[in-house]
Amino acid sequence: MSDEFSRRLLPTLSRIADHFGTPFHIYDMQGARDTAEGLNHAFHDLNFREYFAVKAQPNPQILRLLANHGFGFDCSSLAELVAAREAGASGDDISFTSNNTSYEELVAALDADAIITVDDETVVDRLLSMRARPRSVCFRVHPGRSASVQNMHLGGGDSSKFGIRIDRLHDVVAKARGLGAHTYGLHIMLGSHLQVPDSFLKNLDLLLDAALLLQDATGVRVDFVNLGGGIGIPYRPGEREFDLAGLANGVRDRVNAFEREHTWPLRVLLESGRYVMGPHGVLVTRVLNRMTKWREIVGVDCGMNGLIRPGMYPDAYHHVSVLDGDGRGLETVDVVGSMCENNDKFAIQRVIPRTVEGDLVLVHDTGAHALSQAYTYGGRLRPQELLLHPDGVVERIRRAETVEDYFATLHCDADRLETAAVLR
Ligand SMILES: *Cc1c(COP(=O)(O)O)cnc(C)c1O
Repeated sequence: MSDEFSRRLLPTLSRIADHFGTPFHIYDMQGARDTAEGLNHAFHDLNFREYFAVKAQPNPQILRLLANHGFGFDCSSLAELVAAREAGASGDDISFTSNNTSYEELVAALDADAIITVDDETVVDRLLSMRARPRSVCFRVHPGRSASVQNMHLGGGDSSKFGIRIDRLHDVVAKARGLGAHTYGLHIMLGSHLQVPDSFLKNLDLLLDAALLLQDATGVRVDFVNLGGGIGIPYRPGEREFDLAGLANGVRDRVNAFEREHTWPLRVLLESGRYVMGPHGVLVTRVLNRMTKWREIVGVDCGMNGLIRPGMYPDAYHHVSVLDGDGRGLETVDVVGSMCENNDKFAIQRVIPRTVEGDLVLVHDTGAHALSQAYTYGGRLRPQELLLHPDGVVERIRRAETVEDYFATLHCDADRLETAAVLR
């Protein structure tokens, strides 16, 4: 959470909480705009476009805001395609980067006329059998054993389920020529929440080498390289910001040299999610109970049903603060939700200001991979989303889930299959 966001939010936060009720995620429109502008500016002298990763923050109001900055959208599922189209995107505005892709998803992506990012040879086979005519085909490559482990969640070495084996790339691309796409690209993403530009630049080198070999082997000349997402943000206080200018300089040097040397114009794509929205959201939750177990426990009115990262990834940290907590004494506590899971904790043995029932607790940096990743185990329902406009207006952009929502899927068409005869 930036100082500017704090300054915009904190003076009126208790009124906002009284009006809308807790818990909620609230997003800072001005901050999101500033980051979007900054990203575009960093790459302004390249042929560049950011395709925001919808899975990080799929609310169409946020997507529309980002579309106003020229962003396209990276979608990985049917619902995300719907969200992107809801936000006005189509054609070249959408890159469909799925994994273990279904026929229905491909139909939807083709219907949107999206760039199809092929994650596996079987996708090409299926597109051919569908007689599909995608506008643009991109190939996600995975370098396998030579890839350093950049992040365990995407799989380094040979454990990854993502991408085309680089030693199969030429065959896959040669086959994909039958699709008659207008443009081709290469994609790579090996890690998430990366702290420094190095691995992006290493990956870019890998793609540029692959592009040259690919042209020699197949005659296909790629028009763009997609470096995926993965730019990290400072979740911990005092942590340094990702060196975006360093990344942009490194990319510019490499791409300009490549373009000059080979008279080969290249477009550069990124699919940032966390970097764009992560810092511009905060989860606001109220203290329900103070409990003394073996430790001091602060129980709040939201848990993994609003934010699962701390429970899901052992190394995930979210800063926790208390509204009007300055000047209070400090204490060491666990901050917990209400789920029947002991990993339902936003903070473990964390030093925070002393709280009492009713205090507002802020869990920082929930603008990305927060509500979109939350779940409803134990009948714990997902919270609402609010948007803080630059003029101070606060708008509800998603209501809280209700008990009716939780039971909605029970209302289904009557259907019974008699299987007794088969068993006999
Ligand atoms: C998750 C994902 C992203 C976004 O990752 P961030 O770490 O939020 O930047 C981008 N592209 C693909 C293919 C992804 O799976």
